[in-house]
Amino acid sequence: MSERAVLHVKGRILVGPDEVRSELWVVDGRISYDRPAGARDVRTVDGWVLPGLVDAHCHVGLDRHGAVPDDVAEKQALTDRDAGALLLRDAGSPSDTRWTDDREDLPRIIRAGRHIARTRRYIRNYAWEVEPGDLTAYVAQEARRSDGWVKLVGDWIDRDLGDLSACWPRGAVEAAIAEAHRLGARVTAHCFAEDSLRDLAEAGIDCVEHATGLTDDTIPLFAERGVAIVPTLVNIATFPALADGGESRFPRWSAHMRRLHERRYDTVRSAYDAGIPVFVGTDAGGALPHGLAADEVAELTKAGIPPVEALAAGTWAARKWLGRPGLAEGAPADLVVYGSDPRADVRVLADPRRVVLGGRVVA
Ligand SMILES: [Zn+2]
Repeated sequence: MSERAVLHVKGRILVGPDEVRSELWVVDGRISYDRPAGARDVRTVDGWVLPGLVDAHCHVGLDRHGAVPDDVAEKQALTDRDAGALLLRDAGSPSDTRWTDDREDLPRIIRAGRHIARTRRYIRNYAWEVEPGDLTAYVAQEARRSDGWVKLVGDWIDRDLGDLSACWPRGAVEAAIAEAHRLGARVTAHCFAEDSLRDLAEAGIDCVEHATGLTDDTIPLFAERGVAIVPTLVNIATFPALADGGESRFPRWSAHMRRLHERRYDTVRSAYDAGIPVFVGTDAGGALPHGLAADEVAELTKAGIPPVEALAAGTWAARKWLGRPGLAEGAPADLVVYGSDPRADVRVLADPRRVVLGGRVVA
């Protein structure tokens, strides 16, 4: 009988928050819970095992000035990978990073195409900048070239007003979201403030990024419609510094940013309590470095989300939401091994013992 070389993973396999198995094998890059006949362990890995972490708001191929060369994008993806983030939802990038799909050593990326913003209402060099009459056409274009998501910039500073304000009239987002759904894509939007949220939710949006402007007025609506949020609390932590920088020119905007920051944990906790799906996202690649998924899970617990639920927001639940398997029989062996139970203390996520991607120990 011929022997097959396999990776043997044992310890506590956290298939779900309450489903624990004691071992699995990796055969041809995939998970098997049955010891393969004639298997010879090439390597045994031992510890607490989670499906690869999900960073549901990440930008590969982007820095604070716009698109970056492929070698820089590669480093960004490797940083996420080595931190255990093996599934990334790219929330908008002007770079074409589809070349990473052929690289088995890089995290899987679900792309949202390029951001679509209102003219001069977003960070320079990031977005397609269009007017409402062209929104549906650009949404259709990005829906076709992305991996099933489209990213809008829902609000931004209006320099004439000196404050955050909604970027799109209701009719324009309604038509654009309907078109994305017709093409089989989901839609998400960057929103810091309050005033764009009702229109977007009523227009059928699937997710809102940051969502710092949720209030008692819009939280029940989001819950009823099942609109998910990705709070990116590690990014919201930068609001006070941004507010300081804009204070002299835009005092109203600065004060608004500070208020949103001050109530950020209450906002996330209220959203979670109302039943709004909350997921882990870092916003890495704009102003922030990559590899912060563990920090964001810790931030969600600071907001008052129970540790096992914060963990789910960056693992089991996030994978299900994005249509990707976790630690299922036959699934790609994308997993992370820790030295202690992450359900007991999520801080262990910052210190993975082993990272396994496509069945290979990569870190
Ligand atoms: Zn972002």
